[in-house]
Amino acid sequence: MTQPIKISILGATGSIGKATLDLVRAFPDKLEALGLAAKSSLEVLAEQIREFKPKVVSVGDQAARKKLLDLLDWPQSLAIKRPEILVGAEGLDLVASQSGAQTVISAVVGAAGLRPTYAALVKGLKVCLANKESLVLAGEILTQVAGDRLAPVDSEHSAIFQALGGRLDCLDLDRLILTASGGPFRGRSFDDLKKVTREQALNHPTWSMGPKVTCDSATMMNKGLEVIEAHHLFNLDYDQIEVLVHPLSYVHSLAGFKDGSILAQMGPTDMKLAIAYALSHPARWPLAQAALKQPSFEKFLNQAVPSPLTFEQVDRKVFRPLALAEMAGRLGGTAPATLNAANEVAVEAFLAGRLAFIEIFEVLERTLEALPVQKITNLDEALAADQRARIKAAAFLPK
Ligand code: NAD
Ligand code: MG
Repeated sequence: MTQPIKISILGATGSIGKATLDLVRAFPDKLEALGLAAKSSLEVLAEQIREFKPKVVSVGDQAARKKLLDLLDWPQSLAIKRPEILVGAEGLDLVASQSGAQTVISAVVGAAGLRPTYAALVKGLKVCLANKESLVLAGEILTQVAGDRLAPVDSEHSAIFQALGGRLDCLDLDRLILTASGGPFRGRSFDDLKKVTREQALNHPTWSMGPKVTCDSATMMNKGLEVIEAHHLFNLDYDQIEVLVHPLSYVHSLAGFKDGSILAQMGPTDMKLAIAYALSHPARWPLAQAALKQPSFEKFLNQAVPSPLTFEQVDRKVFRPLALAEMAGRLGGTAPATLNAANEVAVEAFLAGRLAFIEIFEVLERTLEALPVQKITNLDEALAADQRARIKAAAFLPK
């Protein structure tokens, strides 16, 4: 019998982290969780520790560690030892690289995912990457050190990865079409966007995800970050990467080849499929036993009802964050890191009720304009660009 794949999950209490643990629960013969890291939801983390018994855990700081120990209340008599509990950025790096796992699920949200992702890759581990922000910040550095040890989890990139049979490099690949649901504000005018609320922005039509990526889907910054992510993962020029709105999210993206053929991947809007494929490729696991969401397009296949399989262009004059990200990607150097940091600052302020939806766009534009583009040759330079942009963007928030 083959041994289970030993994994570490960074961002274990988040939307992707929980979906990954659903897979561990469904496939105990295939997966074993050795390391868990999180910064929020300590009650959830304590439950996860009791159920999955990892060897090492990391939380945000000493206060969170103390709270977690109280929640765990680990009996001395228990045959299984309490996991080691680490803290902070260092703890996160250690869970990423020293837990004894072969594979790391990188699913922290935001730029905080860069260092641990890099640590895992430098250690020679495989990384299933949900944290798109780390590729946006330091795509060249990560892909160089990764070789073929990166597997995308983002559903669009997973769709292309699946179309390529579980590979990233394909000399016959000619173009990519990333699909977007269009988010909750599809078809709205710029003036309409001035009035939208936080609740509306967080009400995604087809996917259930964490708050930051859901907000990014509403501004379409998410698709912009994904264009940059695709550029790095599949080594294509920006001219070869298109975006189309496909409101029902049946087709998760399309890969176009030199001979004119296009392969699309369809599936349920359930991230367990993409996470499982990142772990199992090129094989596939029987995901029915992981309670996979039913694909809503099956009714069209089974009943031969005409399917509304529609695609439309994005209005970049309204959804300016997509255009800004495409521009930053083409500029290269520190520009994507600057835009990403400005976005994290602006989205955090929006989610806290301190910024209007449309003002996110202004913070992005002003920060990108204010900071000159520089080259990035190593991780520290990428992180320094991130810090500079955070300070600049914070200065553009309302007092
Ligand atoms: P989430 O907000 O639901 O969860 C984030 C997790 O990261 C939580 O466990 C949180 O505690 C942890 N975390 C945050 N900051 C941390 C830090 N500094 N140190 C340690 N842990 C930290 O986010 P999510 O929706 O699961 O998204 C995670 C990543 O995956 C993002 O980069 C997102 O863009 C990407 N992604 C998510 C989805 C989805 O369906 N949720 C789809 C595609 C891509
Ligand atoms: Mg995506």
